[in-house]
Order: sequence, then C-alpha cells, then structure tokens
Amino acid sequence: MHQYYPFSAMVGQEKLKTAYLVNIINPKIGGLLISGPKGSGKSTLVHSASNILPEIEVIDQCFFNCDPNNSDHWCTLCREDSSDKKSANKKMKVISVPLSCSEDRLIGSIDIEKLMKKGIKSVQPGLLGEANRNILYIDEINLLPDHLVDDILDSAALHWNTIQRERLSIIHPSEFVLIGTMNPEEGDLRPQILDRLSLCVKVKTSDNPDNRVEIVKRNLWFEQNPIQFINHFEVQEKQLTKLINRAKKSLNCTKIPENFISAISKACIELKVDGHRPDIVIIKTSQAIASLNQRDTVSQEDILISADLSLCHRTRDGGLLEPASEQEITDIFNKYLKSVKSKSSSEMFIPEDLSSMDQNQDKFQNIVENKISSPQNKTSPSESKKKD
Ligand SMILES: [Zn+2]
Repeated sequence: MHQYYPFSAMVGQEKLKTAYLVNIINPKIGGLLISGPKGSGKSTLVHSASNILPEIEVIDQCFFNCDPNNSDHWCTLCREDSSDKKSANKKMKVISVPLSCSEDRLIGSIDIEKLMKKGIKSVQPGLLGEANRNILYIDEINLLPDHLVDDILDSAALHWNTIQRERLSIIHPSEFVLIGTMNPEEGDLRPQILDRLSLCVKVKTSDNPDNRVEIVKRNLWFEQNPIQFINHFEVQEKQLTKLINRAKKSLNCTKIPENFISAISKACIELKVDGHRPDIVIIKTSQAIASLNQRDTVSQEDILISADLSLCHRTRDGGLLEPASEQEITDIFNKYLKSVKSKSSSEMFIPEDLSSMDQNQDKFQNIVENKISSPQNKTSPSESKKKD
C-alpha cells in the first residue's frame, strides 16, 4: 500500500490547507486550483489528504460509488438491477488523471465482445467513474490535452458521464472535487478551466528559515522511516478526520449574517467581478471555514479568507481586467464589512441544506440580485428575504 506523507505533517501552507479542507467538507464549493513553482509541495499536499479523507456510504459492488440514499443519482447498472441494494462504507480517494491518459481510460469503456458472446454487460469504469464522490486530481492541469479537459469540464458541469460503445450506453453520476495543480512558468490555463475551479491558491516556496529547516528535517525523516513518521502523526490525522466529519454535519446549520451577504455583493461589484458565482462561492466557503473551526456563525475573518481564495484567479469586467491582488480584495472587503453593523441573530441566513445549495438557488439569487437593484449606494443592505 502506498504511504502518503501525512497532511498534519505539512509545514505552513495554511491557506492551501484551508482551501482543500473546505472542498472536502462541502464538495459543492467547486474545486481548487493550486498554482506555484516546482517543489513547493503542491502535489504532496494533494495526495496527503488520502490519510484524512472521510468515509462515504456506497452501494456495494457498484463501480461508480452510487449513493444508496439517493436513487435519483444511480448509474444505469444500479437502476437496472432490481435486487436489494447492500450498502458499504468506503474511504474517499484521490484519483489522479495522468497527462498521458487515453480518452477510454478517462471516460470508461464497454466490452462489446463479451456482450456479443456471453450477453454480459462488461464495463470498464473510467477515471470519471472512479472519481464519483471522490477527488479528481490533475497535476500540471495546464498541460493536459484540450479534448481531455473538455471531457472533464463537461462531466463537472453535468455531474454525469456517459460511457458509449456502438448503440450501448451506460450513464453514471460523476460528481467530484476537481483539484488542479500548475506551474505558471509552464504555460497558462484556458479561461474555461479557470472559471470552473472555484478557489485558487498561489503557493510560494517558504522564505521562513525555521519553516524551511523543519520541512527538510521532516522530509528526511519520512524518507528514512515512513512508518515511524506516519505513526508519529497518527493522532493528529485521526483528529483532523473527526473535525472534517463534524464540520460536514454542522455545515447545514452554519449561520451567516444577512448584512455580510450584502457586503460580499457590494465588494464584488466594486471589484467588477463577473457573474454571481463568486458571491455564492464566497458564502459557501466561509460557511465551511466556520464549520471546520467548530463555530456556528460565519465571522468577518472567514469572509476575508474566502474572498481571497475565490477571487485571486478571476478576471474581471468581462475579462478586460486582470484578477484583483490580495491587498485589493482585502481592502475592498474590509471597507464593506466594516460598514455593516453587527446585527442580532434574527437577521441570520441559514440555508436548510448547504450540500444541496442548488435547490436554494432562488433564495441566493434573490440575495445576489440586490447588487443589481441597489448598486454601489449606501442604502440599508439588510433587505434581502429572511429565511422563515
Ligand atoms: Zn451504481
């Protein structure tokens, strides 16, 4: 079995760890792009999550990890099989897409010969199938051939993948946390991919001498005696898994002050951010950060962190403006967050079910529409509809 470097043993990179953990807590946040030079620990960190990922309940023997409690999202094979479904628990996984991946390996294939000879529907699931309800990881995402990127983006947008051969097709759910890493010196990323990855972290090589020494020591220790090293961090890793599970459960009732939502919209208008998606991503991310820290209410600090993660890679003003700098994002968000007074808990917004935020789209749409109806004025921001 492969031994992964423990997540808890990673030195520094706090922003990156947060961005990754919130995606694990709420996969609907929509993925993460990690940009940075070679050797800055991007790939190690992505794989290190393998140790701390929570378990999911799946239909036993299903190739595509169908959820026994969600029959609307079952694959063709689970739908066609009328026998009672047995459940099993599986640990979530990181599924890597190699740059040399074939389209069949990505999408999956059907063995027609077996079907003709024996009448058996023999399916070879692709990476998009294995990645359902898991993490789909692309190292050097900017170098992945365009046709594979398009297949992944289609699947990410539709949440389904179709394996087709001649007249036979098998449809299966394909909902995954998309994580991409890239070295910006090796080429740009297509705007379509940039837009699909909700959060972004630009990592740097550590310039803190103490951290660098600690990184070197830990790497040498792991190389010499991985089992001892992993055992050393075992308690922390288990603790982190517990925190993730607890955060997943409490996410649905994490409150966000209504006037924060208004401040987010106003700041996004001033930054000329395109579309409503970033507003929604900032809200979801801030709620996951609060849950991770075992708080029941989002704080201003959570919003500032989420805004930086959500906006640092987004072009603005219809693509005419470069992404805002961290300082610019912080300054503008601070301005609007400080202008809202702390209100009583009666003006809290609590989505009934954050994990199915799409169903709450209307409510969110109402809130973000406020930024259209009252742009850049100083009227009271707390007129959006309250949850009843
Ligand atoms: Zn299935």
